[in-house]
Amino acid sequence: MKTSSSDLFESRLAGLCAASGLGSGAALPRARFLRAWKALGRLGLTGLPFPTKFGGSGRSLPETVRALESLGRHAGFDGLALSVGAQMWAVQSPLLEFGTPEQKRRFLEPLCRGKAMAAPAMTEKDAGSGVLGMKALAEPSGSGCRVTGEKTCVTNAPLADFFLVWARVPGRQGPMSLDCLIVPSGTRGLSTSAFRWELGPAGAASGTVRLKGCEVPASLRLGRPGQGLTVFLHAMAQERRFILAPAVGAMERRLLETAAFARERQQSGRAIGSFQAVAHRLADMKIRLEACRALLRQAALEDAADDGCSAAVKAFLSESWVANCLDAVELHGARGCRDAGLAAELGAALASRIMSGTNEIQKNLIALRMGLKSS
Ligand SMILES: Cc1cc2nc3c(=O)[nH]c(=O)nc-3n(C[C@H](O)[C@H](O)[C@H](O)COP(=O)(O)OP(=O)(O)OC[C@H]3O[C@@H](n4cnc5c(N)ncnc54)[C@H](O)[C@@H]3O)c2cc1C
Repeated sequence: MKTSSSDLFESRLAGLCAASGLGSGAALPRARFLRAWKALGRLGLTGLPFPTKFGGSGRSLPETVRALESLGRHAGFDGLALSVGAQMWAVQSPLLEFGTPEQKRRFLEPLCRGKAMAAPAMTEKDAGSGVLGMKALAEPSGSGCRVTGEKTCVTNAPLADFFLVWARVPGRQGPMSLDCLIVPSGTRGLSTSAFRWELGPAGAASGTVRLKGCEVPASLRLGRPGQGLTVFLHAMAQERRFILAPAVGAMERRLLETAAFARERQQSGRAIGSFQAVAHRLADMKIRLEACRALLRQAALEDAADDGCSAAVKAFLSESWVANCLDAVELHGARGCRDAGLAAELGAALASRIMSGTNEIQKNLIALRMGLKSS
């Protein structure tokens, strides 16, 4: 039988994940994390949906989500999958949509090739769901601006070569009040610190970014003056639709493993899978998995016009993932409470309800699109 290019990609990805120690749920040491990142870049994963002229793989969105599902199948949704997703949807996609030719050459291309890493910096200590309450300032300075502020929960912060930083321009009000700036990590006044999620993707390289009077030339503003909110909305719509694609692969892997366990594990002289209560629970896991996959793949077929679909994808996938993890824990009995990989996956699933906007915010967005004003 002829091997298709997607079979080849899948087998190379499987080999890479196994060799890198991805998928155990444990945090990779920094050097191994970066090695795995570069290898994913060589495989074309970090540039999947981006044009080849910018170093991307030129894959369609449906092909991209299938490849990201494969990543989750082999590596789970650990730190690396989060890093890939946050960068792909909240940095690379806005760079492609709003970047100048020079910005695409200098910043998008190395990301697509896996030769650099970037981080989206929106959230602040007191501005998470209410992101428009952000305090970071971009004060005019020469032909550019001087950025001061602190961003938290930033995926890739400790390893990033540059950041997309959203900041408020003094004197501007309402939807035009934000600018989005590309800030290289070597900029004077920029520092980062790392933290670990106690309940979340265990291997994530997350942290805080501090900016103290960072001078940013006008050539590094992404989009026009006052277009920061538009850039933000684009980034979030993409992230909500696709960031959990690897989680669907992780759900599939977990279901297969749990079903195999139920066929093997004996109680009262029978395989536990022969008890209807157990079999139905596995069937529920399968139903959620198939519904998630269908919703995700449908989202990949829709154009960018967002009627609340992206919020529905993110909310449904994260809730289904949590439900499947809880079923998997309980179906393993006490073993489920001693399985570090399963505990890590449950933590990541719970965090997925919060990241990219909490599910309450997703429901607010869906309600808004239906003409309902919810506070
Ligand atoms: C794993 C992970 C990765 C992340 N990566 C990034 C990243 O790369 N870059 C980045 O900038 N940020 C990132 N974040 C931050 C994330 O976007 C925020 O945590 C999220 O938007 C929620 O903000 P908050 O934590 O301040 O919670 P809060 O906004 O304080 O919310 C607390 C509670 O109040 C509820 N609530 C708040 N406002 C409303 C409302 N209007 N209606 C109904 N309920 C409401 C929330 O739903 C929640 O239950 C990440 C977070 C996680 C967990």
